[in-house]
Amino acid sequence: MSDSQEVLARWASCFTPNYAPSRVFVRGAGMHVWDADGRRYLDMLSGLAVNGFGHCHPTIVDAVRDQVGRISHVSNLYAVPTTVDFAAKLLDLSGYDRTFLCNSGAESVEAALKLARVYARTLRGEERHAYVSFDRAFHGRTMGALSVTGTAAYREPFTPLLEGVTFCAYGDLAAVSAAVNEHTAAVIVEAVQGEGGVVPAPPGFLAGLRDICDQAGALLILDEVQAGMGRTGRFFAWESHLEGEARPDICALSKSLGGGLPLGAIVTTEEVGSAMAPGTHATTFGGNPVACAAGLAGLRLLEDGLLDSAAQAGEALRRALNALRSRCDAVVDVRGQGLLLGLVLDRPAKPVVADVLDEGVITGRAGERVLRFAPPLILGEDDIGAAVDAVERALS
Ligand code: PLP
Repeated sequence: MSDSQEVLARWASCFTPNYAPSRVFVRGAGMHVWDADGRRYLDMLSGLAVNGFGHCHPTIVDAVRDQVGRISHVSNLYAVPTTVDFAAKLLDLSGYDRTFLCNSGAESVEAALKLARVYARTLRGEERHAYVSFDRAFHGRTMGALSVTGTAAYREPFTPLLEGVTFCAYGDLAAVSAAVNEHTAAVIVEAVQGEGGVVPAPPGFLAGLRDICDQAGALLILDEVQAGMGRTGRFFAWESHLEGEARPDICALSKSLGGGLPLGAIVTTEEVGSAMAPGTHATTFGGNPVACAAGLAGLRLLEDGLLDSAAQAGEALRRALNALRSRCDAVVDVRGQGLLLGLVLDRPAKPVVADVLDEGVITGRAGERVLRFAPPLILGEDDIGAAVDAVERALS
């Protein structure tokens, strides 16, 4: 039995059976990880869009070492300077006024959903309990986030969920207009549906949602958990969809926000944020100083040029995938935004992901037939060439 096989056998004997890992990774550096038997893999998925800065970025490793050696947790009953520095930098880069820190994507969505209700009730004196979401939307697995997740198969084992959620077709503004009413607390949407098949919002869709929400007095929540933090070349994926002063009321963030450590956040306006009064919401670990040290180092990297290079890398990867499409019949379409791209195939993607992994490249599946790329933002030309070669070999 190899070292990897031994670990996988122990995994299978320890854990609830909801995961089935196929590799054991013991080390990472930049764009690569190494398995327990010494084989190197090119990471084009970033641990599900988390390692935006690559593996073990030296600046992030130093920041974490320094923080964990000084103080690692005090709870939000007390303050740690690193957590405040992170929050200030996040607001600076995002352009929002207030933040609440948590530990994951689903928790950031929960915070956004709760804030939308409590804002309506306490600041506007309105009873708004309903939400509008979209078919194939993915917002997480906790009960609230699951309630607005648009894949029925994920929801059905856990019903009854939150009342008053209406799902519309992604892109269908007329359906949203009909669904939003005086009971709607918020519309929640992704600028690129990640898990749902790497589907970018059609032109005018997010601007139309903004108008509908404004007319109905509902909040607009953008779930930027997967597409945000520079993955599209702008801090938020929605930035290329909304013009002038228009912006969402609340954005949910996580994944690469913590530079590889668990960290989530909502950012919001002064007015909406003021509804999160003492006692309304809380979390023990949220704003953990070690995660914030990693996150702060990551935000500084974004500020120091990584946003621009991510935009260029996204264009280069799209060009290479389009070239692959022109010479490979199995590829039907290339879609997405920036460094969140999907190769739409003429066949189920799951076995292709496994074959590409055998070729030494980590990709993912999104929906049934889409091969997903969400690489670290440090992706280079050589990595793109190696990844596309591996996919081409796997498809032939
Ligand atoms: N929102 C979006 C858009 C996501 O892609 C995900 C996870 O993939 C989540 C929320 C949930 O995040 P987490 O798995 O950290 O709870």
